[in-house]
This record gives sequence, C-alpha cells and structure tokens, in this order.
Amino acid sequence: MRKTLYIIGLSTFVFSCTSQQNVKKNTYKPKTPVVQPKPVAKTQTSEAPKPKITNEHGVEFFTTNIADATKNDNTASYGSIVSAKPAGYKVVKTYFPAVAQNFRQRYLILHYTALPDDKSITVLTQQAVSAHYLVNNTGDNEIYQLVDENKRAYHAGVSSWRSDKNLNDTSIGIEIVNAGFPNGTGTRVFAPFSDDQVRKVAALAKDIITRYQIPATNVLAHADIAPARKQDPGPMFPWKKLYDEYQIGMWYDQTTKQDYFDLAQEDFAVKYSDPSFIFGIQTALQKFGYGVEPSGKWDDATKKTIEAFQYHFRPQNYDGIMDAETWAILQALNVKYSVK
Ligand SMILES: [Zn+2]
Repeated sequence: MRKTLYIIGLSTFVFSCTSQQNVKKNTYKPKTPVVQPKPVAKTQTSEAPKPKITNEHGVEFFTTNIADATKNDNTASYGSIVSAKPAGYKVVKTYFPAVAQNFRQRYLILHYTALPDDKSITVLTQQAVSAHYLVNNTGDNEIYQLVDENKRAYHAGVSSWRSDKNLNDTSIGIEIVNAGFPNGTGTRVFAPFSDDQVRKVAALAKDIITRYQIPATNVLAHADIAPARKQDPGPMFPWKKLYDEYQIGMWYDQTTKQDYFDLAQEDFAVKYSDPSFIFGIQTALQKFGYGVEPSGKWDDATKKTIEAFQYHFRPQNYDGIMDAETWAILQALNVKYSVK
C-alpha cells in the first residue's frame, strides 16, 4: 500500500512538473512567481518508503528494493553506492530514490581464454583485455574477480545483439580457462571443459543473472555477439546442460524443433540456393539476435554466423553450412524467444 501511494505520489509529481513546463512554454508571465508543488513533494517525502542504507567500514550500501525487480527496475545496489561529495553540501540518498532506473548490467557473456591458467591471469590483468571474472581450471573452489561489476571490462570488443552494440557497456564477462582449439589447422578440434569448471560457471552465472534479472536471451557466447571474429566458448561448452540443470540461457523445445525439421526436410535441398530462401534464413538469424545483414547469398558473414549458432545450439556439427536441422532449431528458438 505504501508503495502504491508512493508511486501515485511520484506520478503526480512528474505530471506536475510536465504541466508546469507547458505553462511556462505557452504563457509568458515574467513577474509571476513560479508556484512550487510543495504539497505533492511533501506527500512524496512522507509516504515514500525510504530505502534502507547500511554502512560497513565507512562504505554505504542500499539494501532495500523499492520497485519491481522483475522489470529490472530496483534500487538495490550490489556494490557500494557511489555518490558525489560536493564541498560544502550534503548529498542525501534516502529522500528521492527514483523508480525509473535499472541496472547497466543487462548481458552475461561467456568466453574461453585459449590459454593455460597462469597465462590467462597475466593477459587478463596486465594487458588491454579483461573480464569481470576468471574461472580457473585448477580444481579448487576459487573464482577470481578481476573487474568491479559496476565497471566496464574489455572482453566483448566490437559486438552486437539485436539492437544493442558494443556490449562491453552493458555486460558482465566471464572468462573460462580452456585451450580453445589447440590443433587449429583444418577442422577445428576444441578442448573440453572440466565438470568442475562447468559447476563453477553455472553457480557464478546463476548468481549474476539472478541479481541483475538478466533475461535468458541475453546470456550469450562471445561468438554469438562477434561471429566474424570469435569462436569462444566454442562447441564444447555445455549450453544445454546449463539450461537443463540450472535454467541458465536459452534452449529450444524438442517437439517444436521436430515439427520444423519434418517440414524443412521436404524440400530443403531444392530451395537451398534460392536467394529468397537464403534471405529468409538470414532474416531469421537477424531476428534471433545476430548482427548479420540479409543479402540473399551464402556469404562469408552468414557462414560465420551459422557457425556461431551451431557452436551454441547444434554443437555436433559446426561446419557453418545451413542444413535442415540447424534451420529447424533456429525457427524453434525464434518461436520460443521472439522479440516482444
Ligand atoms: Zn572471448
């Protein structure tokens, strides 16, 4: 009830501000003093639930949600509250917390380092690349944090997903120690992830996704957001296991996939080279989220995008060639995770 009153109070306050602006725009009254919406402001102050702030070792933390966490709108801060300290003035945090705010952390991006443990640490801490977390492969119970979650780590590079670009701005990056494809000539042979690493990644991902309300559609591979340049974490990363056992990320429904597969198989070979069919597949990849431009041709960018898609959703065969099964999976995913 208190929350409802507060939101009504806030809406009135916003409305008042807007009305006042309109009056100021349309009517020129130089000597009329501006009437401040004091009663509304007072109501807001008295009715609003003040977020609880705790202080540990001189650092303040918000501890209370005041809005709808399912919409990623809340004021809970999982790091310290960073505030200005203007000389001679007091910054007050408890009177006017806005409902209209959300987390900057909207994506979770997974990587492999393609390096052993010690080199992974050196490169990710001493060079121009980084990630928020590094999952080692030493069998212990530690996960290394390299970058504050509130700051940008340099892990995604030039990247895109749906309408978002440069995902370093909006993502948390997890690097996993893994050799990648060490025998990188001809067909790529990727190194497996240990069970122990997968459990660590799952626990870490679950924690991050839950705190920031990151949707399943935004839990992605580096290859998904930069298919022309990247393969990681590659086809050995067990996305299906993460989905099945931890409810992390996206996976298709088997029956929907089978329906599309039965349909696709009928004349897939006949349509394969038809520009309008290729265009349709490229459009479906784009709709799902990939930054591919529909051209009506099986161009290199499309091949790389299909490869990235197969690493993630059809890892048994990742040749970058669209086939009936890959096409069926893509359509099943688009049905399940369509853009609202
Ligand atoms: Zn990467």
